[in-house]
Amino acid sequence: MHDAVQANGQPNPFQIALAQFEAAADRLHLDEDMRQVLRAPKRELTVHFPVRMDKGGIRMFTGFRVQHNINRGPAKGGIRYDANVTLDEVKALAMWMTWKCAVVDIPFGGAKGGVVVDPKPLSLAELERLTRRYATEISVLIGPASDIPAPDVNTNAQIMAWIMDTYSMHRGYSVPAVVTGKPLAIGGSEGRNEATATGVVAVTKMAAEEMKLPIRGARVAIQGFGNAGAIAAELLHAEGARVVAVSDRQGAAYDERGLDISALLRFKSEHGTVVGFPGSQTLGVKDVLEVPCDVLIPAATEGQLTAENAGRVQARIIAEAANGPTTPEADKIFFDRGVVVIPDILANAAGVTVSYFEWVQDLQSFFWTPEEINIKLLHIMDRAYTDVARLAHDQGCDMRTAANMVAIKRVADATHLRGIYP
Ligand code: NAD
Repeated sequence: MHDAVQANGQPNPFQIALAQFEAAADRLHLDEDMRQVLRAPKRELTVHFPVRMDKGGIRMFTGFRVQHNINRGPAKGGIRYDANVTLDEVKALAMWMTWKCAVVDIPFGGAKGGVVVDPKPLSLAELERLTRRYATEISVLIGPASDIPAPDVNTNAQIMAWIMDTYSMHRGYSVPAVVTGKPLAIGGSEGRNEATATGVVAVTKMAAEEMKLPIRGARVAIQGFGNAGAIAAELLHAEGARVVAVSDRQGAAYDERGLDISALLRFKSEHGTVVGFPGSQTLGVKDVLEVPCDVLIPAATEGQLTAENAGRVQARIIAEAANGPTTPEADKIFFDRGVVVIPDILANAAGVTVSYFEWVQDLQSFFWTPEEINIKLLHIMDRAYTDVARLAHDQGCDMRTAANMVAIKRVADATHLRGIYP
């Protein structure tokens, strides 16, 4: 049994992932044997490890790596550094990765990793030692044919470079395909940095077109101003949308006339926050979810849209850049109110799709141009969106259930074809 609420007060993400799974499995009439297999993560590794600190002495850290299902290919999923990471959170994220890879039909299973740490106070040298030791601890699982990490919250290309180098040192030769989201100079892919936001914007435009909502002039609110949120803001601004509110951990900046995103990016890099941006009104961390807008992009963390605030959300489209931002209770409220939720496993799947391109390029040591990446990516996102939207329409259900149905069917088919060993 898993608690509905975690010790940190957040809704338990694994409970949410299981509830979403059951809703789609019911509609697919999946038998109980298959459900048992698909509910359970295949591997859960917890590691405790020491790191030598700059001031002398050591500090113990805890990390996780979970592989949910690898019947369609090697496990794939990011690594997050966060003080609130729990095993249940990592299990949920690993399960969502299985469905995400399946919904865009790339040949990967799902995984996720995390270290319980607030990386901000660490020096660069401490961060490197922590990363290299964590990479070593999980090296029993990771590898280019078995499990391929990538960046997630508070991890980046430099951290991927250290993981790639650590793994390569153990092997005695370079293994670029062991991680994705690396710097270009050591086997990264063109387009990876902006991939997630590119996909979020692409599916938002497809949904807006169906709803006859012109993107030019549409009001957009974005929670989280990191890799996914800030680049989505830039891209939507470039499309002529009015980004009226953005937020980070410290609060939100709101301007109903639309924020100047280039100026806001400069402000954020100088001040470390969007709060206090000249000409904007300062709002609380969660207020960004409820401002008057047409499109809401949660791009921060899980469990943000709940039964408590879903009724006050004013957007017509919610495009989930973050993983798991909406609870099942909030989903019901949105569906009843006619708010279209483009679910995480579809909306943010462009990140893992370009990661897949990076892995393929590393394995063949032959690299593609930004144009080739973009064409291939948009083709995959277009096909996935169409598959899901059509099924949602046919079934009369929300897009999350439809996306899960598409994905779970693919994983169940692979599992069925491979059979149960021995
Ligand atoms: P990031 O660390 O670059 O940025 C996260 C942003 O969210 C920061 O601005 C931070 O201040 C803000 N934030 C964090 N917790 C918050 C909270 N409780 N309230 C308000 N703001 C908060 O991370 P990212 O890579 O942009 O990832 C954001 C989300 O998108 C995560 O859920 C991640 O799993 C998901 N995602 C990212 C990618 C990717 O390629 N970067 C791909 C798929 C999914």
